[in-house]
Amino acid sequence: MGLLGFGRGRAPRPGGAGLGRPVGGRTVRTRRRAGVGPGREAQHTDVGPARQAGHTGAARHEGTARRGAAGLLALALLTLPVLAACGTGSDSAASAAPADDDRPVVLTTFTVLADIAENVSGGHLRVESITKPGAEIHEYEPTPDDVKKAAAADLVLENGMNLETWISQFVQNADAEHVTVSEGVEPIDIAAGSYEGKPNPHAWMSPAAGEVYVDNIAAAFSDLDPEHADDYASHAEDYKERLRDVGEELESSLSGLPERQRVLLTCEGAFSYLARDAGLTERYLWPVNSDEQGTAQQMTAAIDYVEEHDVPAVFCESTVSDQSMQQVVTSTNAAYGGTLYVDSLSEADGPVPTYLDLLRHDAETISAALTGRDA
Ligand SMILES: [Zn+2]
Repeated sequence: MGLLGFGRGRAPRPGGAGLGRPVGGRTVRTRRRAGVGPGREAQHTDVGPARQAGHTGAARHEGTARRGAAGLLALALLTLPVLAACGTGSDSAASAAPADDDRPVVLTTFTVLADIAENVSGGHLRVESITKPGAEIHEYEPTPDDVKKAAAADLVLENGMNLETWISQFVQNADAEHVTVSEGVEPIDIAAGSYEGKPNPHAWMSPAAGEVYVDNIAAAFSDLDPEHADDYASHAEDYKERLRDVGEELESSLSGLPERQRVLLTCEGAFSYLARDAGLTERYLWPVNSDEQGTAQQMTAAIDYVEEHDVPAVFCESTVSDQSMQQVVTSTNAAYGGTLYVDSLSEADGPVPTYLDLLRHDAETISAALTGRDA
């Protein structure tokens, strides 16, 4: 049928997979020098030239007209290392640090990882996110300043599973250790669209998978800074306990939903892991943000599904325009259930300044909207 998302974008059957269930078993670490190993390159060769080109964050509101200018952007990316080498006069990670801050520098690709890393670090390391709160992360374009920061960092943490399509470009010239924090998570494949069959990258939306991230980060920190290895291990244990508590809250707030209300319809198909854990049926407008957004087929399929199943509420995420989903709301009896957070935390004074807040906020928003309660 060629319909993106619908009909084929089915979440795995809810099989009593509890939120407290460990995912993926033991921690597996990939240690590689950034950008030097053939494995690094090979991992990203399936991305294709269009993906490498990327586009600006502003393009996320452009809907179906968002493709193009690939050559120009590819050229812009190629010039990045040159700009970085020449220096732009703006502050780098090293120069931005206070003179007396000699802690090792850890760069993460997005804010959720930075928050987890900060909790595990407990102040021993200087943790910073490359992308800022609210940023589109799938097709982020590193700036010359980002490239300089990577070159100065002691460790770069990335999610992996094709989330950061820009990462190989980004770390190409960096000498930092590079760790993929989703290693060991049992992946759920993307069910439709141009990335069909590839792992869905949004594993952190499962608190159980989040524990794997924590273990990987603690192991990477211990390698980087063996002197504080015991601290990292104990911070990780504390944090995993808090994560398990949130997982239990999430499970109990969603497990009471009647069958008719157990559908999670969002803009991006970013909730496969959450839906699996909570036993919800996942539907979405587009499979991944780097796919086309809000096409006629996606809209028709969503509206048909909502009408056919009498879906009470639908949702969209903070890092994309909700315009398409509002159109679904206008065309059906479904309510707009609220903004969910997946790909980015909010600013410190916003609704989800931390990863644990993000998980809690989404569970409460989903459960309130589907049952018609106030959040
Ligand atoms: Zn996403």
